[in-house]
Amino acid sequence: MINVSFVVNSFFSSRTYLIEAQKSIFLIDCGDIESFCDMADSISAVLLTHSHFDHIYGLNDLLHIWPDVKVFTNDYGRQMLLNPQKNMSTYHDKPFTFLHHDNIVIVEDGEELEITDGITAKAIFTPGHNQSCITWHIDDYLFTGDALIPGLKTVTKLPGGDKDKARESELKINKLLSEFNLKICPGH
Ligand SMILES: [Zn+2]
Repeated sequence: MINVSFVVNSFFSSRTYLIEAQKSIFLIDCGDIESFCDMADSISAVLLTHSHFDHIYGLNDLLHIWPDVKVFTNDYGRQMLLNPQKNMSTYHDKPFTFLHHDNIVIVEDGEELEITDGITAKAIFTPGHNQSCITWHIDDYLFTGDALIPGLKTVTKLPGGDKDKARESELKINKLLSEFNLKICPGH
């Protein structure tokens, strides 16, 4: 069993989800870390829904505290982590480049990963908002990032966006939600 909570980040109100398993905590995306870095004994991993700046900007601070944290993304996500233009941070005050290449783990579509304590996460690629978009299926939850935010139209106008793919991804996500009766945890 897992316990899911979230922090609303100061930047663009993106969400960082904290997933507590029996022995450790892992995150979905990473913005402001102040509110939980004191209380968490150890954080083992960050699963990225995509690598836009507002979903990744806390990663260097996090790895400063826990240098062994693994960061899961796809190949596009990796490129964005390492390039402030691609992750869009260059258009804001603080250009962001992820400094810990060796901690990045590249995942494939459909891959099931054991994250911690026997908790598995399935990576479902849901491009459209961006090519780095991964929806994570963990337990009874679906973490959709910006690929599907209930009540909002999916943003496809940024670089790497694709309207048709976004529509396909939305259908895929909606099918999973109803088929397995999952709870949706969006990125904002
Ligand atoms: Zn985004």
